[in-house]
Amino acid sequence: MTKPPLLRARWPESVSRPVATPLQPSVVYASPDPDALDDQYEGRASGFTYAREGHPNADVLAGLIDRLEGAEGGVVTGSGMSAVTLALLSIVKAGDHVLGADQLYGRSLRLMQEELPRMGIATSVADPTDLKAFEAGLRPETRAILIETVANPTLRIADLRGIIALGQARGIPVVVDNTFTTPALINPLQMGADVLVHSVTKMLAGHSDATLGYVAARDPEIRARLSVLSATLGLTASPFDCWLAERGLYTFEMRFERASRNAETLAATLADHVGVKRVLYPTRPDHPDHNRAQSLLTKGGGNMVSFELDGGRAAANTLVRALDQIAFAPTLGDIATTLSHPASSSHRALTADARAALGMSEGFFRVSVGCEDPDQLTGAFAQALDQL
Ligand SMILES: *Cc1c(COP(=O)(O)O)cnc(C)c1O
Repeated sequence: MTKPPLLRARWPESVSRPVATPLQPSVVYASPDPDALDDQYEGRASGFTYAREGHPNADVLAGLIDRLEGAEGGVVTGSGMSAVTLALLSIVKAGDHVLGADQLYGRSLRLMQEELPRMGIATSVADPTDLKAFEAGLRPETRAILIETVANPTLRIADLRGIIALGQARGIPVVVDNTFTTPALINPLQMGADVLVHSVTKMLAGHSDATLGYVAARDPEIRARLSVLSATLGLTASPFDCWLAERGLYTFEMRFERASRNAETLAATLADHVGVKRVLYPTRPDHPDHNRAQSLLTKGGGNMVSFELDGGRAAANTLVRALDQIAFAPTLGDIATTLSHPASSSHRALTADARAALGMSEGFFRVSVGCEDPDQLTGAFAQALDQL
């Protein structure tokens, strides 16, 4: 028996190249000699050394999202939350203050309220739909602003242009989480935002099988800190997740277009149905921020719809059970429609009064609309509502 070689087997040579991007799981990369390593570390030659510091599948994915957002040098991370964390920690230090929107993604709020204060970073929140109120939340030591354009799950629309202008006037970096709106609707960096964040887990990857984040910055100094801090804190993404997300990204535009059209149709169906108290969809004339939606969301209202049933928890249970073809799951952006009930999931930590103040009763639902056949989808909801 011939023993295996000392080095692992070589990849076969080929004059043709693969059409699909190869998946490269290697944690470590072998170099020819110390001089070559010097060249790499000092930027005279490009290449990889160790996967936590960067790997080909993350670079490929980051480059594709850069294109969608008009960004440069974006960094892919292991989750949307690591992206939010990386964005803020690249800008602020102990003694600084961060002003956030009052309806951020639940974990982002927890980062602001529970973790950053432990590091000596003060935080507070204000209403981003009211520029005066938001401005009043600024402090002399405010060093970052964190907002989302469309709030989850109330779909209220922030004064994005006003807040970006405010940040620019005061020299405070504005971080925008663009997960909900996606690059198909808004490109925050192009509008003057300083830092952009995505949970790639959601619409961009689109199949609920990869957990990833993305951060990009306009200022080269912040950009440099993003990659160093990501490697130091170990926020790096798995090559396999990057590979899956890249594959998903090629159909992002088509999926989002179909899902947004479905969402508009579903919103109309729900609004026409007895037993539905109200429907929230950004481009509907009865949306509380309709004027802002018209000026900001010129490419459409997106794939998220919220609605409120007449009746409380009992009606909510009946609806979810009747919608047995739709996954009742607290996520968004999947190829299939998912239904979430904030009072029992994302917003269960709030008191009933606090939820009521946000307009989120026991009958309140959020739908992440998917790419199904529109008639089948609206039919399933109509049939389920008829059982109430
Ligand atoms: C899901 C989500 C996040 C967090 O992303 P993960 O990939 O789950 O860590 C952050 N912001 C928004 C708006 C989200 O929807």
